[in-house]
Amino acid sequence: MEYVSRALEAVQGWREPAPSHPALQPDAERFEAAWSEFAERMGTNYPFHHPRYAGQMLKPPHPVAIAAYTAALHANTNNHALDGGPATSAMEVEVVEWLAEMFGLQGGMGHLTSSGTIANLEALWVGRELHPGKAVVYGANAHYTHSRMCAVLGVRGIEAPADVAGRIDLDAVEELCRGGDVGTVVVTAGTTGTGTLDDVARAVSFRERYGVRVHVDAAYGGFFTLLADSGLIDGGPFKAIAGADSVVVDPHKHGLQPYGCGAILFRDPAVGRLYKHDSPYTYFTSAELHLGEISLECSRAGAAAAALWLTLRSLDLAPILSAGVRAAQAWAELIRGSDVLTLHREPELDILTYFPTASSASEIDAASERVLQNGMDSDDPVFLSTLRISADAFAAAHPDVEMDADGVRVLRSVLMKPEHEPHVPWLHQRVSQIARR
Ligand SMILES: *Cc1c(COP(=O)(O)O)cnc(C)c1O
Repeated sequence: MEYVSRALEAVQGWREPAPSHPALQPDAERFEAAWSEFAERMGTNYPFHHPRYAGQMLKPPHPVAIAAYTAALHANTNNHALDGGPATSAMEVEVVEWLAEMFGLQGGMGHLTSSGTIANLEALWVGRELHPGKAVVYGANAHYTHSRMCAVLGVRGIEAPADVAGRIDLDAVEELCRGGDVGTVVVTAGTTGTGTLDDVARAVSFRERYGVRVHVDAAYGGFFTLLADSGLIDGGPFKAIAGADSVVVDPHKHGLQPYGCGAILFRDPAVGRLYKHDSPYTYFTSAELHLGEISLECSRAGAAAAALWLTLRSLDLAPILSAGVRAAQAWAELIRGSDVLTLHREPELDILTYFPTASSASEIDAASERVLQNGMDSDDPVFLSTLRISADAFAAAHPDVEMDADGVRVLRSVLMKPEHEPHVPWLHQRVSQIARR
């Protein structure tokens, strides 16, 4: 609250009062009715802000980001062109430099996007332009949008299998690269389902050996690069990003930002020429770089750059990310000692997968669904998510379970709020209680 009033104060400071127009004044009664309906509808959301919400990758932005975004909205700058938002364009250039430094990709080229999907699309598009006619290879563990975006681009997408651990099978990828038809290899640093890290370093070695481009989808995991030397996670895949051709990271996932903030970074600034366009509508009035000249999207929220800029200037993300990793590790430890829950996979980041202990796949699947529903419906609710694991992967990980179904839903908790850490004993106890019934 105090941050938001600060935003409004700041706006008073920089904005000359301007005359309004009666057409813009809503009818008071109509507005009140609409507002109360709005407030009531918003009350139906799950409590994403609370540690009892341990389900999907969802949490509100940090109040600092909300304040910057709110203040910047009063100018509503458009980072397409410098003329549309000189201050927020400069902030975008700075935050992109900070992200490039984090990944060891200084001197490259990049910009913010409206999402990870669009950022990945740009990487695949650049791959297509530089290796026309060649395929894009992604793993069965990759985000589903890679296959969709290959279709959008008219590029052949090849899905490589994932191994038992949920990593892309790089032996299979290497075999494909040897054939000479592959233009781009996509690896994931932190899968959406389980937070698993592909072997980025080995994929990067294919660049030289086979001349392929290597793109790292770190939409979820990218900021864990800040923990690469902490000993808390496997830093290897994050350090290897410095050798890739491009990387995507979503500040709206682990950068404390509101939705509408992804980022794409390229190692080679020369790919900027591929974006060249000539539009009669826009107003690139100076010789200086306009972000719209190196971006597939046209209008983009300057407020998104402002919010990320103020957040990264004011806060360190590493301690926030560490708390989530420790939470996942601590909960995994409690589950290892439990007779009602079984760990599906050791967490690599802050995503935990587990299931109610049972002897067959069909029982585990039904029990996971039941815990999900009963958790939400209880008076002391806990919010989880489920993840469907293929029969092969599940059987390989849990050979003692009778496989009487062709897939198994397990429980999944994304522990992306630092507040989850002190809440782990409660989460474990509550989920165990519900599973026991
Ligand atoms: C979330 C995610 C995406 C998609 O990003 P959006 O911002 O939701 O469009 C892509 N890849 C990975 C690994 C993700 O976790």
